[in-house]
Amino acid sequence: MPLSSASQPLKVEPTTGLLVGARQVLSPHFDARPPGVIAELIVVHGISLPPGEFGGPWIDLLFTGALPVDAHPYFRDIARSRVSAHAVIRRDGQIVQYVPFGMRAWHAGQSQYRGRSACNDFSVGIELEGADETPYTDAQYKQLAGVVDALLAAYPLLAAEHIVGHSDIAPGRKTDPGPAFEWPRWRALLQERLAARSAPGSNTTP
Ligand SMILES: [Zn+2]
Repeated sequence: MPLSSASQPLKVEPTTGLLVGARQVLSPHFDARPPGVIAELIVVHGISLPPGEFGGPWIDLLFTGALPVDAHPYFRDIARSRVSAHAVIRRDGQIVQYVPFGMRAWHAGQSQYRGRSACNDFSVGIELEGADETPYTDAQYKQLAGVVDALLAAYPLLAAEHIVGHSDIAPGRKTDPGPAFEWPRWRALLQERLAARSAPGSNTTP
């Protein structure tokens, strides 16, 4: 039986909050979640630097506070922003992690989910390298499903029902991941993953 999209299991190491198999580029832009708070929400973002251009080292450099101001006119405005996400999924599907999932990354800004503000406190932020109107890649859909599957397995309060776009928690201010992100397609992929994990005879470890 072909394993198809379930063939590459990803795993979150619970003690460190690191994703096994991701490239690790640890950001200084993070701090602790408020006492007693753990991740309950997953926020999907889109990012490209400069806007609309893909590839290059710029996202790594922004999230590590090292973006060179002079490399592009757009960078002048954002180079000193102290921002991060827990992880970025590049166009080719490569996953880069910047902040351990147990810690608070600085991705949501002013935001509100079901009446609760400051979503950074209780969320995981995952960026897709992309732009609002540009189709995301097959590899990104697949890897996002894999990362979310691993997160749901690791953090008890995360659930498939509590996954939103940045535009959902900061409407009027943020538009990412944009209309290009096909939620129904991605949710179907995620359900496939979750079903494979819970199926009898699947090779998940206890
Ligand atoms: Zn965003």
